[in-house]
Amino acid sequence: MGCDGLNSIVRQTLRNWEGTTSDKFQMKQFPSPSSGLRYKVLTLPPNFLLSDDVQDQAICDQAYVIRGTFKEQKKSISLGIFPVKNPETSRTANLITLPNHYLWNLKNSEELEKYLKQAFPHIPIDKNLTPEERERCAKSEGGTLPIPQYCSGCHWLSQDKKIGILLLGDAVHCFPPDIGQGVNSALEDIYIFNKILSETDDNITQALPQYEERRSPDFYPLIKLVQTGFPWQYNQDLLRRKLWNINFFIRLILSRILPFIFSPPSFIMVQNHQLRYQEIWKRSQQTTLRLWGLILLTMLLILSSQILQK
Ligand SMILES: Cc1cc2nc3c(=O)[nH]c(=O)nc-3n(C[C@H](O)[C@H](O)[C@H](O)COP(=O)(O)OP(=O)(O)OC[C@H]3O[C@@H](n4cnc5c(N)ncnc54)[C@H](O)[C@@H]3O)c2cc1C
Repeated sequence: MGCDGLNSIVRQTLRNWEGTTSDKFQMKQFPSPSSGLRYKVLTLPPNFLLSDDVQDQAICDQAYVIRGTFKEQKKSISLGIFPVKNPETSRTANLITLPNHYLWNLKNSEELEKYLKQAFPHIPIDKNLTPEERERCAKSEGGTLPIPQYCSGCHWLSQDKKIGILLLGDAVHCFPPDIGQGVNSALEDIYIFNKILSETDDNITQALPQYEERRSPDFYPLIKLVQTGFPWQYNQDLLRRKLWNINFFIRLILSRILPFIFSPPSFIMVQNHQLRYQEIWKRSQQTTLRLWGLILLTMLLILSSQILQK
């Protein structure tokens, strides 16, 4: 099982074995405005405090986005906090920033604490973050959001069919977390493979090629959905984010009024687990075409009414 993440040694090995005969284990990369952004993770209690009032606690299975007070791009920051099912477990808050953001100049836990208190005066930082967590976060070098990428091959069988290798998750499709599909798509990989194992009575020789045939058509659409889904959410470019918002709301409103013609934004469609990524991407593209058609039609109507008036 090659489920060893983006820098998968299993995939690299398969690539070496294939040599120049095929590029099926070579990652194909696609640009994204969120690739290259840097992130750090803060660990919070499940019911962290939302204010100084001890009754004002966060609900553990609810997501939160807490906006900071700084306006300038290199200092502004938000906390993206994921829900957790287990009320006993800690939860994580992502700090995702431009590579030259102020956060990366902070040298120790005191500087980090001061910055967080200035950025989030409405949240009791002292009560939510233990001194150890502040220390850990200050020392952490964080990570960089990856370039969207995938490879078309996700299985390998030896010639005598006795050895089989399967690639799953980030090892075969990896991208920035814009639409929250990294873990979800990895779990879907496993769900589909498990289904095929049941259908083939656990016959790996049959299951592996069937899996690649059924699952790999989802990889390119998944990468395209990440590229276009919500890449401007990290405050990289205000104008582009506004344009993205307009596009989002036009699609949302039209899909409510005319659901049989227009599909909702892909960011919403990916939350429907019954839709395959290829189907979501197809609907998204159809809606784009129809929107252009609508724009063209409106322009033609305006033009013809002006001609008639003359
Ligand atoms: C900031 C951030 C936020 C994210 N938010 C979301 C989100 O909201 N929703 C979502 O669905 N996804 C999100 N993701 C993406 C998600 O984290 C990944 O897609 C997911 O973790 C991929 O799982 P994986 O098991 O394939 O790979 P990984 O999580 O990378 O796991 C691979 C494992 O293999 C181990 N390993 C590697 N090499 C070896 C070796 N040689 N020997 C033994 N072990 C090895 C590693 O230590 C690691 O434990 C986010 C990612 C980031 C960076």
